[in-house]
Amino acid sequence: MQAAVVPAVNSPWEIRDIPQPEAGPNQVLVKMHASGVCYSDVHETLGHLPGSFPRVLGHEPVGEIVAIGPGVTSRKVGDRVGTTWVQKTCGRCEWCLRGKKNFCPKQEITAIHLQGGHAEYMPMYADATMLIPDSISYEQAAPIFCAGYTVWGGLRWAKPQPHERVAVVGIGGLGHLAVQYAKAAGFETIAISHSPDKDKLIRELGADEIVRDGKERGPQTTCECNGPVRMRYKSNAIAVFASSAPACMGPRSNSRSAPGAAQHETWVRLADRSSQRRAELISKRRHCCTLVR
Ligand SMILES: [Zn+2]
Ligand SMILES: [Zn+2]
Repeated sequence: MQAAVVPAVNSPWEIRDIPQPEAGPNQVLVKMHASGVCYSDVHETLGHLPGSFPRVLGHEPVGEIVAIGPGVTSRKVGDRVGTTWVQKTCGRCEWCLRGKKNFCPKQEITAIHLQGGHAEYMPMYADATMLIPDSISYEQAAPIFCAGYTVWGGLRWAKPQPHERVAVVGIGGLGHLAVQYAKAAGFETIAISHSPDKDKLIRELGADEIVRDGKERGPQTTCECNGPVRMRYKSNAIAVFASSAPACMGPRSNSRSAPGAAQHETWVRLADRSSQRRAELISKRRHCCTLVR
Protein backbone atom coordinates (compact mmCIF):
# COMPACT_ATOMS: atom_id res chain seq x y z
CA MET A 1 0.00 0.00 0.00
CA GLN A 2 1.02 3.61 -0.28
CA ALA A 3 1.65 5.73 2.78
CA ALA A 4 3.07 9.10 3.72
CA VAL A 5 6.21 8.08 5.56
CA VAL A 6 8.38 10.34 7.71
CA PRO A 7 11.77 8.70 7.11
CA ALA A 8 13.66 10.40 9.94
CA VAL A 9 13.28 13.18 12.46
CA ASN A 10 12.83 16.60 10.85
CA SER A 11 12.74 15.21 7.33
CA PRO A 12 10.20 15.71 4.53
CA TRP A 13 7.35 13.23 4.24
CA GLU A 14 7.64 10.79 1.36
CA ILE A 15 4.99 8.75 -0.42
CA ARG A 16 6.28 5.20 -0.29
CA ASP A 17 5.08 1.69 -0.93
CA ILE A 18 5.09 -0.23 2.35
CA PRO A 19 3.64 -3.63 3.31
CA GLN A 20 -0.10 -3.58 3.85
CA PRO A 21 -0.85 -4.25 7.54
CA GLU A 22 -3.21 -6.95 8.76
CA ALA A 23 -5.74 -6.85 11.56
CA GLY A 24 -4.07 -8.36 14.62
CA PRO A 25 -5.86 -9.80 17.65
CA ASN A 26 -8.65 -7.48 18.79
CA GLN A 27 -8.00 -5.20 15.82
CA VAL A 28 -9.86 -4.23 12.69
CA LEU A 29 -8.28 -3.23 9.39
CA VAL A 30 -9.62 0.03 8.06
CA LYS A 31 -9.45 1.29 4.48
CA MET A 32 -8.77 4.95 4.99
CA HIS A 33 -11.20 7.48 3.56
CA ALA A 34 -9.87 10.58 5.32
CA SER A 35 -7.00 11.40 7.63
CA GLY A 36 -6.87 14.83 9.21
CA VAL A 37 -3.65 16.77 9.55
CA CYS A 38 -3.06 18.18 13.01
CA TYR A 39 -0.29 20.47 14.25
CA SER A 40 0.86 17.54 16.38
CA ASP A 41 1.97 16.01 13.07
CA VAL A 42 4.50 18.83 12.92
CA HIS A 43 5.60 18.22 16.52
CA GLU A 44 6.01 14.55 15.75
CA THR A 45 7.94 15.22 12.57
CA LEU A 46 10.27 17.56 14.45
CA GLY A 47 10.81 14.99 17.20
CA HIS A 48 9.06 17.02 19.90
CA LEU A 49 7.00 13.97 20.79
CA PRO A 50 8.27 10.43 21.34
CA GLY A 51 8.25 7.81 18.64
CA SER A 52 10.71 6.10 16.36
CA PHE A 53 11.31 6.68 12.66
CA PRO A 54 10.50 5.89 9.92
CA ARG A 55 6.89 6.44 10.92
CA VAL A 56 3.45 6.93 9.39
CA LEU A 57 1.69 9.83 11.12
CA GLY A 58 -1.98 10.78 11.21
CA HIS A 59 -4.13 10.57 14.36
CA GLU A 60 -7.46 11.73 12.90
CA PRO A 61 -8.09 8.59 10.85
CA VAL A 62 -11.46 7.47 9.56
CA GLY A 63 -12.55 4.86 7.07
CA GLU A 64 -14.38 1.62 6.43
CA ILE A 65 -13.60 -1.69 8.08
CA VAL A 66 -12.43 -4.24 5.51
CA ALA A 67 -11.18 -7.02 7.80
CA ILE A 68 -11.72 -8.22 11.35
CA GLY A 69 -8.95 -9.65 13.52
CA PRO A 70 -9.19 -12.58 15.95
CA GLY A 71 -11.37 -11.89 18.98
CA VAL A 72 -13.32 -8.95 17.57
CA THR A 73 -17.05 -9.19 18.20
CA SER A 74 -18.10 -5.52 18.40
CA ARG A 75 -17.39 -4.46 14.83
CA LYS A 76 -18.05 -5.87 11.39
CA VAL A 77 -16.81 -5.40 7.85
CA GLY A 78 -18.42 -2.33 6.33
CA ASP A 79 -18.64 -0.30 9.55
CA ARG A 80 -17.59 3.34 9.21
CA VAL A 81 -15.21 4.08 12.06
CA GLY A 82 -12.43 6.29 13.35
CA THR A 83 -10.10 6.10 16.30
CA THR A 84 -8.43 8.47 18.72
CA TRP A 85 -4.95 9.33 19.99
CA VAL A 86 -4.90 6.76 22.81
CA GLN A 87 -6.01 3.40 21.49
CA LYS A 88 -4.97 1.04 24.26
CA THR A 89 -3.91 1.19 27.89
CA CYS A 90 -2.89 -1.39 30.49
CA GLY A 91 -6.26 -1.44 32.23
CA ARG A 92 -4.58 -2.26 35.54
CA CYS A 93 -2.66 0.77 36.76
CA GLU A 94 -3.94 3.35 39.24
CA TRP A 95 -4.97 5.72 36.46
CA CYS A 96 -6.76 3.10 34.42
CA LEU A 97 -8.63 1.94 37.52
CA ARG A 98 -9.66 5.53 38.17
CA GLY A 99 -11.01 5.76 34.65
CA LYS A 100 -8.31 8.26 33.62
CA LYS A 101 -6.53 6.19 31.07
CA ASN A 102 -5.02 9.27 29.47
CA PHE A 103 -2.46 9.14 32.30
CA CYS A 104 -1.68 5.44 31.95
CA PRO A 105 2.10 4.98 31.54
CA LYS A 106 1.56 2.10 29.13
CA GLN A 107 -0.52 3.79 26.48
CA GLU A 108 -0.45 2.66 22.88
CA ILE A 109 -0.92 5.82 20.87
CA THR A 110 -1.93 6.34 17.26
CA ALA A 111 1.02 7.50 15.16
CA ILE A 112 3.39 7.21 18.15
CA HIS A 113 3.45 3.50 18.97
CA LEU A 114 0.95 2.43 16.33
CA GLN A 115 0.70 3.17 12.63
CA GLY A 116 -1.10 6.39 11.83
CA GLY A 117 -3.74 7.17 9.27
CA HIS A 118 -1.78 8.83 6.46
CA ALA A 119 -1.88 5.57 4.53
CA GLU A 120 -4.25 3.48 2.45
CA TYR A 121 -4.92 1.02 5.27
CA MET A 122 -4.60 1.21 9.05
CA PRO A 123 -5.11 -1.34 11.82
CA MET A 124 -7.12 -0.06 14.81
CA TYR A 125 -8.00 -1.72 18.10
CA ALA A 126 -11.70 -2.47 17.80
CA ASP A 127 -12.45 -1.23 21.30
CA ALA A 128 -10.85 2.10 20.42
CA THR A 129 -13.01 2.68 17.35
CA MET A 130 -16.12 4.81 17.26
CA LEU A 131 -18.89 4.34 14.74
CA ILE A 132 -19.48 7.29 12.41
CA PRO A 133 -23.11 8.06 11.52
CA ASP A 134 -23.92 7.78 7.81
CA SER A 135 -25.01 11.41 7.78
CA ILE A 136 -21.48 12.63 8.56
CA SER A 137 -18.94 12.60 5.77
CA TYR A 138 -15.53 11.12 6.36
CA GLU A 139 -13.97 14.53 5.78
CA GLN A 140 -16.13 16.07 8.49
CA ALA A 141 -15.62 13.18 10.89
CA ALA A 142 -11.81 12.98 10.73
CA PRO A 143 -10.91 16.11 12.75
CA ILE A 144 -13.46 15.21 15.40
CA PHE A 145 -11.17 12.36 16.48
CA CYS A 146 -8.53 14.83 17.68
CA ALA A 147 -9.69 18.45 17.65
CA GLY A 148 -13.29 17.60 18.48
CA TYR A 149 -12.42 15.01 21.10
CA THR A 150 -10.02 17.48 22.68
CA VAL A 151 -12.52 20.31 23.06
CA TRP A 152 -15.33 18.05 24.14
CA GLY A 153 -13.03 16.67 26.82
CA GLY A 154 -12.17 20.22 27.84
CA LEU A 155 -15.80 21.14 28.19
CA ARG A 156 -16.43 18.04 30.27
CA TRP A 157 -13.47 18.91 32.48
CA ALA A 158 -14.85 22.40 33.04
CA LYS A 159 -18.10 20.82 34.22
CA PRO A 160 -20.47 23.64 33.25
CA GLN A 161 -23.81 23.41 34.98
CA PRO A 162 -27.27 24.20 33.57
CA HIS A 163 -27.78 27.96 33.03
CA GLU A 164 -24.07 28.71 33.24
CA ARG A 165 -21.97 30.47 30.66
CA VAL A 166 -19.06 28.99 28.80
CA ALA A 167 -16.26 31.16 27.46
CA VAL A 168 -14.11 29.79 24.69
CA VAL A 169 -10.76 31.52 24.33
CA GLY A 170 -9.36 31.41 20.84
CA ILE A 171 -11.59 30.54 17.91
CA GLY A 172 -9.28 28.52 15.74
CA GLY A 173 -9.08 24.89 14.74
CA LEU A 174 -10.18 23.71 18.18
CA GLY A 175 -12.09 26.70 19.48
CA HIS A 176 -14.48 26.81 16.53
CA LEU A 177 -15.60 23.32 17.50
CA ALA A 178 -15.82 24.23 21.20
CA VAL A 179 -18.19 27.10 20.40
CA GLN A 180 -20.47 24.74 18.51
CA TYR A 181 -20.36 22.05 21.19
CA ALA A 182 -20.98 24.48 24.06
CA LYS A 183 -23.91 26.00 22.23
CA ALA A 184 -25.34 22.65 21.21
CA ALA A 185 -25.07 21.53 24.84
CA GLY A 186 -27.32 24.43 25.77
CA PHE A 187 -24.91 26.90 27.33
CA GLU A 188 -24.74 30.60 26.76
CA THR A 189 -21.51 30.70 24.83
CA ILE A 190 -19.05 33.56 24.73
CA ALA A 191 -16.30 33.57 22.15
CA ILE A 192 -13.12 35.41 23.10
CA SER A 193 -11.22 36.35 19.99
CA HIS A 194 -8.96 39.22 18.98
CA SER A 195 -9.62 38.65 15.29
CA PRO A 196 -12.45 40.86 13.96
CA ASP A 197 -12.29 39.07 10.63
CA LYS A 198 -13.67 35.98 12.36
CA ASP A 199 -16.72 37.68 13.84
CA LYS A 200 -19.11 36.60 11.09
CA LEU A 201 -17.98 32.99 11.29
CA ILE A 202 -18.14 33.02 15.08
CA ARG A 203 -21.75 34.24 14.95
CA GLU A 204 -22.60 31.55 12.41
CA LEU A 205 -21.11 28.95 14.74
CA GLY A 206 -23.63 29.99 17.36
CA ALA A 207 -21.74 32.20 19.81
CA ASP A 208 -24.06 34.45 21.83
CA GLU A 209 -21.44 37.09 22.30
CA ILE A 210 -17.96 37.94 21.09
CA VAL A 211 -15.50 39.55 23.45
CA ARG A 212 -12.36 41.06 22.04
CA ASP A 213 -10.27 42.73 24.70
CA GLY A 214 -12.67 43.87 27.38
CA LYS A 215 -12.75 47.50 26.28
CA GLU A 216 -16.25 47.07 24.98
CA ARG A 217 -17.29 46.41 28.55
CA GLY A 218 -16.27 49.84 29.85
CA PRO A 219 -13.13 51.36 31.31
CA GLN A 220 -10.45 49.04 32.47
CA THR A 221 -9.76 48.71 36.12
CA THR A 222 -6.90 47.35 38.09
CA CYS A 223 -7.25 43.97 39.63
CA GLU A 224 -6.52 43.41 43.31
CA CYS A 225 -3.63 41.30 42.12
CA ASN A 226 -2.18 44.54 40.66
CA GLY A 227 -2.58 43.25 37.15
CA PRO A 228 -4.71 45.14 34.68
CA VAL A 229 -8.03 43.47 34.18
CA ARG A 230 -7.88 43.34 30.45
CA MET A 231 -10.76 40.96 30.16
CA ARG A 232 -13.60 41.19 32.58
CA TYR A 233 -16.48 38.96 31.91
CA LYS A 234 -18.40 36.69 34.12
CA SER A 235 -18.25 33.20 32.82
CA ASN A 236 -18.53 30.01 34.74
CA ALA A 237 -16.37 27.82 32.64
CA ILE A 238 -13.50 28.73 30.43
CA ALA A 239 -11.88 26.63 27.79
CA VAL A 240 -8.59 27.89 26.41
CA PHE A 241 -7.67 26.76 22.95
CA ALA A 242 -5.42 29.53 21.69
CA SER A 243 -1.93 30.79 22.16
CA SER A 244 -3.24 34.33 22.02
CA ALA A 245 -5.51 34.30 25.05
CA PRO A 246 -5.58 37.53 27.04
CA ALA A 247 -3.15 37.42 29.93
CA CYS A 248 -5.70 38.18 32.58
CA MET A 249 -9.34 37.34 32.51
CA GLY A 250 -11.94 37.65 35.16
CA PRO A 251 -14.14 34.65 35.35
CA ARG A 252 -16.28 34.13 38.38
CA SER A 253 -14.50 33.22 41.56
CA ASN A 254 -15.90 29.72 41.44
CA SER A 255 -15.29 29.22 37.76
CA ARG A 256 -13.51 26.27 36.26
CA SER A 257 -10.94 26.61 33.56
CA ALA A 258 -9.92 23.96 31.11
CA PRO A 259 -6.55 25.02 29.79
CA GLY A 260 -6.57 23.41 26.40
CA ALA A 261 -7.87 20.44 28.25
CA ALA A 262 -4.51 19.32 29.56
CA GLN A 263 -5.97 17.73 32.64
CA HIS A 264 -9.27 16.47 31.46
CA GLU A 265 -10.54 13.02 31.66
CA THR A 266 -10.24 11.88 28.12
CA TRP A 267 -7.09 12.76 26.27
CA VAL A 268 -6.29 16.33 25.67
CA ARG A 269 -3.39 18.53 25.00
CA LEU A 270 -2.51 22.14 25.24
CA ALA A 271 -2.55 24.25 22.15
CA ASP A 272 1.01 25.19 23.08
CA ARG A 273 3.09 26.25 26.02
CA SER A 274 2.10 29.89 25.94
CA SER A 275 -1.54 28.93 26.28
CA GLN A 276 -0.57 26.85 29.29
CA ARG A 277 1.13 29.87 30.86
CA ARG A 278 -1.91 31.99 30.23
CA ALA A 279 -4.16 29.32 31.61
CA GLU A 280 -2.01 29.29 34.76
CA LEU A 281 -2.35 33.05 34.98
CA ILE A 282 -6.07 32.78 34.62
CA SER A 283 -6.11 30.14 37.27
CA LYS A 284 -4.07 32.26 39.70
CA ARG A 285 -6.04 35.39 39.15
CA ARG A 286 -9.49 34.03 38.99
CA HIS A 287 -10.04 34.49 42.69
CA CYS A 288 -9.08 38.14 42.77
CA CYS A 289 -10.04 39.86 39.55
CA THR A 290 -12.86 42.35 39.68
CA LEU A 291 -15.87 41.15 37.82
CA VAL A 292 -18.21 43.15 35.69
CA ARG A 293 -21.48 42.55 33.92
ZN1 LIG B 1 -4.17 16.21 16.85
ZN1 LIG C 1 -2.92 1.83 32.88
